[in-house]
Amino acid sequence: MFNTLSDRLTSVLQNLRGKGRLSEADIDATAREIRVALLEADVALPVVRTFIAKVKERAKGAEVSQALNPAQQVVKIVNEELVGILGGETRRLNLAKNPPSVIMLAGLQGAGKTTLAGKLAKWLKGQGHTPILVACDLQRPNAVTQLQVVGERAGVPVFAPEPGNGVGDPVDVARKGIEEAKRAQHDIVVVDTAGRLGVDEEMMRQAVDIRAAVQPDEVLFVVDAMIGQDAVNTATAFSEGVGFTGVVLTKLDGDARGGAALSVREVTGQPILFASNGEKLEDFDVFHPDRMASRILGMGDMLTLIEQAEQAFDADQAEAAAVKMGSGQLTLEDFLEQMLALRKMGPIANLLGMLPGAGQMKDQLANLDEKHLDRVQAIIRGMTPAERDDPKIINASRRLRIANGSGVRVSDVNDLVNRFFEARKMMSQMAGRFGL
Ligand code: GDP
Repeated sequence: MFNTLSDRLTSVLQNLRGKGRLSEADIDATAREIRVALLEADVALPVVRTFIAKVKERAKGAEVSQALNPAQQVVKIVNEELVGILGGETRRLNLAKNPPSVIMLAGLQGAGKTTLAGKLAKWLKGQGHTPILVACDLQRPNAVTQLQVVGERAGVPVFAPEPGNGVGDPVDVARKGIEEAKRAQHDIVVVDTAGRLGVDEEMMRQAVDIRAAVQPDEVLFVVDAMIGQDAVNTATAFSEGVGFTGVVLTKLDGDARGGAALSVREVTGQPILFASNGEKLEDFDVFHPDRMASRILGMGDMLTLIEQAEQAFDADQAEAAAVKMGSGQLTLEDFLEQMLALRKMGPIANLLGMLPGAGQMKDQLANLDEKHLDRVQAIIRGMTPAERDDPKIINASRRLRIANGSGVRVSDVNDLVNRFFEARKMMSQMAGRFGL
């Protein structure tokens, strides 16, 4: 669904990679490109404005993180703000303390309400509930039959007016549906209502009357994500007309730009609860703002890496290690700490695999020997604190003891100690050259 948007954002953010520092001009240019990408995807202008302002402010602000490079920081900010406009935390259904809970569906004709009723019923059943569907869409020919069909597929009963009694009163059907639910001890009632092709007063009045009659715990506004900018207008009309407590996005499997759907939460202030992405009853899921954001950014792995880096990284420790490196004072203890922090993030090969462009490195990654790192770790652990602190004191008899203690050969210990000295020398030479 958000493929185009996703491609655009990914390439904008990829352009930042490899930059050591971001100037204000870099941030402005990036913000401009993100803005164009969002507008082209049909995200509503006020939403884009707020979004861009926040991203810019945060990117320029002093959010200096030692764990992340500038590009990663921008990705992190964009991701967090995107999660924000999508609603932040995942919002669960509010159910009544005393069953039955009532969920009323509202939205335009063709939005996918009836289909959703079936999906919701199936999902609720899977969660251990005993839902019943109530057919209050008496407007559209066949709407009742259609609900009966999806109810049957979902294995859930449908309450509908007796056929042959004329059009009937949807408010009356809704009330009777609730009575039936109580009688047959269903714990959730899903009320399907009539939509129209466009927003119209009569439809709104009917929805308001049904709402008043059944006092729903949730009114879910169902909106077709493919209708573009109209999604925002329709959402506003329903929000003012009948009011709703949550949003369901449908047809996310389509290839339209869909950005309007991303605006609905920000414009109406109501959370998105579910997403539908196909015609089958299974094509339905709880809406998770964080997962959707990382899907849109097309950087699931990158974001995982950023999170892990932040968790594993102790800025003070790393800073101290860097200073020591520069002055040739790095000890084996510092080395071990840094290595452990890195390894806390997961197997090194996975870690490198998450980096963009790691595809070509696959063969090397496959050969990267975790066992070798284990051995290095074991050798350092076999040393006394004094030895780690000042590896120069590690003489032949100490080497033998360390090798025996950590289950390696003396030559492995020699190797490690020699390479450590070489590396330390190289680091301080480099630091000297770069004036650190
Ligand atoms: P209602 O008028 O709001 O009750 O809408 P319907 O449930 O009858 O759905 C209208 C059309 O959209 C039907 O052809 C559905 O099969 C289709 N539809 C509903 N949800 C989805 C979805 O998530 N993806 C796709 N591709 N089609 C959907």
